[in-house]
Amino acid sequence: MLTGKTALVTGAGRGIGRAIALAFAEYGADVAVNYNGSAESAKAVADEITAMGRKAVLIKADVSDAAACAEMFKKVGEEFGKLDILVNNAGITKDNLTVRMSEEEFDRVIDINLKGAFLCMKQAGAMMMKKRYGRIINISSISGVRGNAGQINYCAAKAGIIGMTKSLAKELAGRNVTVNAVAPGYIDSDMTAVLSDKVREAALANIPLGRMGQPRDIAEAVAFLASDRASYITGQTIIIDGGMGI
Ligand code: NAP
Repeated sequence: MLTGKTALVTGAGRGIGRAIALAFAEYGADVAVNYNGSAESAKAVADEITAMGRKAVLIKADVSDAAACAEMFKKVGEEFGKLDILVNNAGITKDNLTVRMSEEEFDRVIDINLKGAFLCMKQAGAMMMKKRYGRIINISSISGVRGNAGQINYCAAKAGIIGMTKSLAKELAGRNVTVNAVAPGYIDSDMTAVLSDKVREAALANIPLGRMGQPRDIAEAVAFLASDRASYITGQTIIIDGGMGI
């Protein structure tokens, strides 16, 4: 499905990003594995990709740092010669009720989750326009679609991702570059491992499919959007939440 393609996945050392990077390699793509803090697990992901017979490039970069982002895309260009697929997956939470939230908590989430995606799309967009081919997939969240108490920073960033996806889809459609988003619900990862049993039970009670999602559930949809099978889909946000939003 992705044979001959090259991809960059941000935050690919663990969780959903890891599952996306591995699925891409399984479907035939060479993958640049971006990480920031998780050097060891990112190296393990790169090793798994190499073991599948695909090329892996390991790149440390904080996506909120414009200079580091520029360096990362330069390296992707040098190693792969082109970039077909970008997945903006890197993200953090710093939850708090609005009246208690510090400016730092607000800014850091916006810087990584929203500005980081912008910085990467700016770099990838330039590379893809030249080649007249590209697939950009942004990881939003059900929180960005519906809102969530205690996550005003995260919801702003994830709703912003949806707006940026639509804008860039319009800008790049004429160059054969599609831009889409996926909005996961509750997915088993380090991000949700910190939730209390009470929050987890309440979430599960609202999921018609009766389970939390697995990172692979998201990776399969992202791989589809990254493939040529999805060539007439752009500017869309696919909600993957086990039916929670029905
Ligand atoms: P996770 O396990 O906490 O992983 C977060 C990833 O983001 C890590 O790979 C981390 O890399 C990376 N990251 C954080 N800050 C970064 C930075 N400044 N520069 C580069 N990478 C950075 O979370 P996850 O559940 O896999 O989340 C992945 C994405 O899905 C996020 O955008 C999240 O908002 C979204 N999402 C998750 C859920 C869920 O239920 N889990 C639901 C909706 C949306 P390092 O460890 O290397 O720093």
